[in-house]
Amino acid sequence: MSTIFTQIINREIPADIVYEDEFCLAFRDINPQAPVHVLLIPKKEIVSMATAETEDQAILGHLMVKASEIASMLELSESGYRLVVNTNEDAGQSVYHLHIHILGGRKLTWPPG
Ligand code: 5GP
Repeated sequence: MSTIFTQIINREIPADIVYEDEFCLAFRDINPQAPVHVLLIPKKEIVSMATAETEDQAILGHLMVKASEIASMLELSESGYRLVVNTNEDAGQSVYHLHIHILGGRKLTWPPG
């Protein structure tokens, strides 16, 4: 089932897009939890990490490499950043289209809540 993120991919609703290519899209989170908070999503509708399959290996690898490049573009590489993939209910996943949160621009605490 499609989510609001597919509407963002299709430009049916606006978003502050920071990167796009054939396979993925990155845009700023509407409710940022850090000075820099970007969501990186595959254009393919993968529901969550819990449903990722072997055939998704290339796109998942692509997302990780692009997350690194986007963090660098947003000048987070030196200070540091966190990549988060909330998966299903206990992790608080609210949009069921796989996404990597790229969080940075402040000191992030550990363990997460
Ligand atoms: P999750 O809770 O599933 O890990 O993360 C979903 C994220 O999507 C949340 O941080 C939420 O603020 C963000 N989000 C939900 N709807 C929209 C939207 O319409 N536009 C943008 N830019 N972010 C959204």
